[in-house]
This record gives sequence, C-alpha cells and structure tokens, in this order.
Amino acid sequence: MAQILRGKEVAVALNKDSAAAMDALKAQRISPTLAMIRMGENPDDLAYEASIVKKAQSMGIQILGCDLKKDVDQKELEAHINGFNHDPYVHGILLFRPLPSQMDEQAVLDLISPEKDVDGVSEVSMGKVYAGNGEGFGPCTAESVMAILKHYNIPISGKRAVVLGRSLVIGKPVAMMLLGQNATVTLCHSKTQDLSNECKRGDILIAAVGKASMVDASFVHENQTVIDVGINVDAEGNLSGDVNFSEVSPQVAAITPVPGGVGTVTTAILLQHVIRSAQRQAKSMKIG
Ligand code: NAP
Repeated sequence: MAQILRGKEVAVALNKDSAAAMDALKAQRISPTLAMIRMGENPDDLAYEASIVKKAQSMGIQILGCDLKKDVDQKELEAHINGFNHDPYVHGILLFRPLPSQMDEQAVLDLISPEKDVDGVSEVSMGKVYAGNGEGFGPCTAESVMAILKHYNIPISGKRAVVLGRSLVIGKPVAMMLLGQNATVTLCHSKTQDLSNECKRGDILIAAVGKASMVDASFVHENQTVIDVGINVDAEGNLSGDVNFSEVSPQVAAITPVPGGVGTVTTAILLQHVIRSAQRQAKSMKIG
C-alpha cells in the first residue's frame, strides 16, 4: 500500500515556521497584512476567503477585505489594486479568480506590484518562476506541490517528473519548479500521444487536468509518487481528484489524497508569502 502524503501534516509544519517568523516581525512592530479583493459572491470564493481569514487571524496576520460588485468597472478595480500597491501597510494582494467576464484578466493581474503578488499571477511573477532565481512568488498551488514533495523527502534531482496539464497556474510553473530542482521534466497535455505510457515513465507524476479519476492504474508504476492536484465536484457535490485513488493507490509508492492533499496546503503557502513579503519590505527599509 502506498504512503499517503497528507497535506495537513505539511501545512502544520509550514505554519510552525510562519509562527516563528511572525514572532520576529512582531518584535520589529511589523504587522503582515494581506488585502483580498473579491468580485461578487461566488460560493467557492467565499469558502476560500473564510478559510484564509480564519487561519490568518489565528496567526496574527491582518486581512483587509475589499468586496466589490460582480459588475464592477475595470477602472474601479484597478484603482483598488493601485491603492493597495502604494499602501506601505499592505504586504500582499490576492484577487479571487476567475474575474468577471467584462475584465481584461491578464491586464488586471499585471497591475499587481510583483513585491505584493503573493499568488504569483502577474507575468513578472511568472517570469521570475521561469528564471528560477527565487526572487518572486510562485502560484500557491504549484508551490504546494513542491512543499509536499519536500516535506516527505521525495527525491527530485535526477528523477523523471511528468506533469499532466500545462496551465499557467499549475502545470507550467510546477514543471519549471521541478526543472529548477534538477528533475528531467515531461509536460503532457490534451494533444499528447500515448498519454498513459508517457505518465508511466515518471518517477513523479503530477496530475493537474481537471478530469475526475482520469489517471488510472495504466498511468502508474509501483515506484512512483503521484501528486493529485485536481479538484472535481460531481452532481451530488462529492469531491474527487484527477486520479482514481482506489485503483491507483495500491499500485504506487506514494500518493496524495483528494480531499486532504494539495488543496490543504495552499493557504499555508499563501500566508507564508505574505510574511516573506513583509520581511523583504522590512529589510529594504533598513537598507534604505
Ligand atoms: P486548466 O486550466 O483547465 O488546464 C487543464 C490542463 O489539462 C490543460 O493543459 C489541458 O490540456 C490538460 N488536459 C485536459 N484534458 C486532458 C486530457 N484528456 N488529456 C491530457 N491533458 C488534458 O486547469 P487548471 O487550472 O490547471 O486546474 C487543473 C485542476 O487543478 C482542476 O481540477 C482544478 O480544479 C484543480 N485546482 C486545484 C487547486 C488546489 O489547490 N488543489 C488549485 C487550483 C486548481 P490543453 O492545454 O491541451 O488544453
């Protein structure tokens, strides 16, 4: 039976590090602050927002909520982003996505100052992930995948990693992060031929497609680590990943569950980014 890579254990360890960093910032009278901008009342956004607020408050991170109407004008949204960009008491900006259809999404995301782009959504942040210089913030879900691999000591350097899915938020940044840690990376997508055999070649398989239970036993082998990023909700409201867990888990070395895997780690990563942004700002003020 595979080792089950539970996200909770990873989040607890990350939050412990964050608590120590918060103590040091408090001693300098710095109060890490996250501004969250939400348009409309999408239930998924509200649930994610509530979980961030709860965790942030328990750690002493301040939250500034900015609730806008779903039909808000792009100029008004941009004014809020610019306000937070210039506010020295704000260290991170999170924009709930997807944005309403009237918005030019990438133009809006690119307005977020890279220093405060704690979800790694702007093209500048993406460029920094690709440069691999550790300066920017990567997308939280992609970083959660890497945090799980690190926490459970899954070897990456010199290993074959297959990433299934090439979106800008998950597949591509995860591929770059794995490459940055010296994996030999294959990126698969909807046009990949002989998909199951490509996936089977990986020592590590990252599934991020958004197709419930698509990865079955034919995609894996007994020495493989499988990270399931997928979140799929069926007509009855049940949650499942991109991996058929009951079929695959007896066939691999290690696997993340859904729920209880990658998604459990993202808030801890987000809050860690806010703290890191506050630390960087404090350092630059000392130098300046
Ligand atoms: P996305 O933008 O829809 O991208 C899906 C990717 O999968 C695309 O690259 C697509 O290929 C590929 N794909 C789709 N069908 C395929 C098939 N039959 N065979 C091979 N490749 C296929 O999705 P995303 O935003 O990356 O999200 C992926 C999953 O992660 C979703 O279930 C989402 O809900 C979940 N998610 C989880 C978290 C978390 O915290 N755990 C956070 C965000 C998202 P093409 O490029 O060729 O179209």
